[in-house]
Amino acid sequence: MLANKSPYPLRGQNNTTLAGEVLENDFKKMTETLTIQTQQLPVMEQFYTIQGEGSHQGRAAYFIRLGGCDVGCVWCDVKDSWDASKHPMVSIKMLTDIVAVTPTKLVVITGGEPLLHDLTALTASLKAKGFETNIETSGSSPLSGTWDWICLSPKKFKAPLPEVVPFANELKVVIFNKHDFAWAETYAAQVNSQCKLYLQPEWDKADAVTPMIIAYIKAHPQWQLSLQIHKYINVP
Ligand code: SF4
Repeated sequence: MLANKSPYPLRGQNNTTLAGEVLENDFKKMTETLTIQTQQLPVMEQFYTIQGEGSHQGRAAYFIRLGGCDVGCVWCDVKDSWDASKHPMVSIKMLTDIVAVTPTKLVVITGGEPLLHDLTALTASLKAKGFETNIETSGSSPLSGTWDWICLSPKKFKAPLPEVVPFANELKVVIFNKHDFAWAETYAAQVNSQCKLYLQPEWDKADAVTPMIIAYIKAHPQWQLSLQIHKYINVP
């Protein structure tokens, strides 16, 4: 048998790979590292706070709010996020390093509509440091990234893509008026069987719609109430 003169072991020897594959893997790893270091995203704001809504309510979480949204909700409370060009580009490496300064376990990517951006490299970088990755999205753009938790909040102004809906861990529908209950049920019928269902009063309409939501949940107990507790306790 011929001796292996290659610096890399041949396939079948000690269950290892061919030299070409090793080089290819090294190159792939190098490219991924470079992407994480150089790729930038528009960041409107970032802050360490308490998650105020939905299933992870009450947990310490680092929020990254990305700029850019093409959904156009009339009641949007972060309209400044819509124009991505108004917000500074921040490298994924810098974002990850900033998060790592805090003791947080959980990072929430929100917007704007965060899925307007390819989030593959951002989530790869965050997961490499051991963070849980959650996203809050309307689902109106293609899904990218690796997520521990997807909060889908469908908006009538630009409906979710059908292919995103089955991946939701949590369906959170903002109730602005009584017609939104039917809209909520449309999506409840499309999510997977494990998906948690939340109804959340639109902040400025809360006095009017919260009693309607309470009555609805009592009649349809598969739903739960989500309140924006961060607004009650005055944290961002
Ligand atoms: S999807 Fe969110 S950021 Fe975009 S307009 Fe609606 S509420 Fe505002």
